[in-house]
Amino acid sequence: MAAEIIDGKAVALAVREAVAADVATLERPPGLATLLVGDDPASAIYVANKRKQCEAAGMRDLHQHLPGDIAQDELAAIVEALNADPDVTGILLQLPLPDHLDAAPLIASIHPDKDVDGLTEVSAGRLVLGKPGLRPCTPSGVIELLDAYGVQIEGAEAVVVGRSDLVGKPQAQLLLARNATVTMCHSRTRDLPSVCRRADILVAAAGVPRLIGPDSVKPGATVIDVGMHRTDEGLCGDVDFDAVSEVAGRITPVPGGVGPMTIAMLLRNTVTAAQLAAVTA
Ligand code: NAP
Repeated sequence: MAAEIIDGKAVALAVREAVAADVATLERPPGLATLLVGDDPASAIYVANKRKQCEAAGMRDLHQHLPGDIAQDELAAIVEALNADPDVTGILLQLPLPDHLDAAPLIASIHPDKDVDGLTEVSAGRLVLGKPGLRPCTPSGVIELLDAYGVQIEGAEAVVVGRSDLVGKPQAQLLLARNATVTMCHSRTRDLPSVCRRADILVAAAGVPRLIGPDSVKPGATVIDVGMHRTDEGLCGDVDFDAVSEVAGRITPVPGGVGPMTIAMLLRNTVTAAQLAAVTA
């Protein structure tokens, strides 16, 4: 039987509409400061989409396009100024940066209450400790998809393939926080298919095209594909979609699954940051 397709475009639209409704209740619209350094074409497209959707949700677009040869200390000073500016609700430093810049200390310097990408050490610590804070966008989007489709997380066996700081680790923490029994896999995992077959919820975030085949999926499982690859035949994910659809109960397509959720959750985080700022003001 073919799996139910999880429609990320529809869920992302619903999140963006809910965000716009929340923005309308705020005294002052949140302001999102996106920092784009240099002229990387893919980054320019990502940032343009973020800005467009930020404005569509009624938020203030506080974009800065900075020269590709900007010095580390100049960029650090800009982040510090945004941290101190009460008009700025969220700060997003678009990655990757040009080679001469070191992203880690710049990300670390973003004020955790304005860290709408959820990537600072403080945000990671808050997540692990179960404290309120801003969570990374892509793994939060996965949880949103599971909830939208009524997937039972509590008590479920969840397997996350990938342990990056951006996706795999926060994904496992978010599932754990919702009382799933979580297993994390990585490049040194022995017999990946047999571990994956335990999963009621399988999240593939390995960055390897079509790594997950039907032999890795328990019949009826929910399969979430975070992977995104441009191939000669078009976009594909970490899951062999056609074959796995015959085994899984639900599955995300690529494109149109997890991808649209990331910006929607960025907008959600910006509203959350505004609400956190209002509480601490
Ligand atoms: P990453 O930093 O390269 O991490 C990949 C992880 O997968 C690593 O932990 C690695 O293990 C593990 N891995 C690699 N090969 C494996 C294998 N054969 N078996 C099991 N595990 C393996 O990648 P990422 O940033 O997390 O991104 C993962 C994928 O998601 C990429 O395709 C990326 O394009 C996509 N992505 C999509 C979105 C979106 O919005 N849709 C957002 C972010 C990322 P080790 O730790 O042992 O090396």
